Amino acid sequence: MLDTVQSLDKEISRRRTFAIISHPDAGKTTLTERILHAGGAIQMAGNVRAKREQRRTRSDWMNIEKDRGISVVTSVMTFEYGGCIFNLLDTPGHEDFSEDTYRTLTAVDAAVMVIDAAKGIEARTRKLFEICRLRDIPIVTFINKMDRESQDPFELLDEVASTLALETTPLTWPVGRAAKFLGAYDVRKQTMRLKQGIPETDDRVIALKEEVELVKAALPEFNIDDFKAGFLTPVFFGSAIKELGVHDLLDALVEFGPSPRNQESDQRLVAANEPSMTALVFKIQANMDPNHRDRIAFARICSGRLERGMKLKHTRTGKTFALHTPQFFFAQDRQLAEEAFAGDVVGIPNHGTLRIGDTLTEGEELQFTGVPYFAPEILRRVRLADAMKAKKLKQALIELAEEGVVQLFKPQDGSSPIVGVVGILQLDVLQTRLKHEYGVEIGFDTVSFTQVRWLEGEKNKIEKFINSNRSAIADDIDGDPVFLATSEFMMQRTVEMQKDLKFHDIKQIG
Ligand code: GDP
Repeated sequence: MLDTVQSLDKEISRRRTFAIISHPDAGKTTLTERILHAGGAIQMAGNVRAKREQRRTRSDWMNIEKDRGISVVTSVMTFEYGGCIFNLLDTPGHEDFSEDTYRTLTAVDAAVMVIDAAKGIEARTRKLFEICRLRDIPIVTFINKMDRESQDPFELLDEVASTLALETTPLTWPVGRAAKFLGAYDVRKQTMRLKQGIPETDDRVIALKEEVELVKAALPEFNIDDFKAGFLTPVFFGSAIKELGVHDLLDALVEFGPSPRNQESDQRLVAANEPSMTALVFKIQANMDPNHRDRIAFARICSGRLERGMKLKHTRTGKTFALHTPQFFFAQDRQLAEEAFAGDVVGIPNHGTLRIGDTLTEGEELQFTGVPYFAPEILRRVRLADAMKAKKLKQALIELAEEGVVQLFKPQDGSSPIVGVVGILQLDVLQTRLKHEYGVEIGFDTVSFTQVRWLEGEKNKIEKFINSNRSAIADDIDGDPVFLATSEFMMQRTVEMQKDLKFHDIKQIG
């Protein structure tokens, strides 16, 4: 027994589950490739891009990505490095799909923030950082493109500290700049990791030593507790494209993790190293394989050990879910997961049973909390071209809403369904997928509503409010009522007048 407990602890403590956050063009794809290359997960750098290209040609709806040069697809890539099992969760680059990104961030233990050394902190980096901060996700900073003209490293550190209110400790320091960028000096170990063929006796290296002394005197020591609490970020300098600084980054993740955290539920805090297996679905992905119309639920294992063939409790429905084919995803293929541990992310093929936010347990009645739905800012009514297909459309909308493609609201006055999105491109995806996968052609009509809020309060108070505002009430996919307003002003006024109710712009599942 002791042995099992020890080996469970050991397995869990070597899990590293993270995502990369950045502004488009900062180098996330390139860094992902180099990380996978360093981890031995891909043979040749260039593969992530190649794979994306390949995926793009796979099915018609993916043409949206191709046409617009964006990536809609997110998935997970598992690899081993330095004795640790890494799960790198990919997130879409385009901000119209940020809801997906936010939900993915609920499944990580750390985020790597990539900053373009010339541009510093950009809008989207800041926004994603704020989401991480809300969840106290520890951040590791990678300052990329040091092989180009860049801002001064001290200025960049200042910018992180002042714009994000995040303390910085550089753990490496760049050796040379721009075309003469040779690699990085490890501030703690006092060692160099340089481009091949550059001896440490190089003049430029010797000149650097003085600069590093200055850095050490000026900046705080690395404090691991402050990092884990999300107050402080260790900073690495590098060039993804030249694969410089990538090992420093991975070594740091191996060294100070963090390993899988504990997870909040509606019942209790679930510790990662509890023996009983629990898992949380944070993403649904369809069409990963064009030959099989499959739907994969991505679940993060929150505690214990997963074993293939387990019979699990699907706590939303109370039904038993047999785990026949959990899968690990690698850069180039996927594989049946015979076992997996807390921190790991597995794909579970299913036919619509599993939804975003669902919890699986070994029998315990428990629902993980924290997976968010955001109040959509763009609302449209769905217009059906062929009235004969109304039933099909209804089913299709439910399925696509369960996948998180759009949010679906059913007006209580019986009018046709309203879809809500955070980014306009989500509507394109909906339209294209309805056409190609369900054979249903739709258009969109504008609606006067621009604001959505979920209601909270005593049951009778909610009912009273609903009864007197029926034409502005709709049910979301779970049957939870939302209030719709035609302007921010109208929403404000209602909120002020309804003192007994709360109006939420984020719905936390659970
Ligand atoms: P993403 O949009 O954040 O995924 O960025 P990409 O990885 O696609 O990179 C955007 C552009 O920057 C591409 O042209 C890359 O080749 C280039 N790039 C990425 N990393 C580096 C780097 O370290 N140095 C230089 N000079 N260019 C880079």
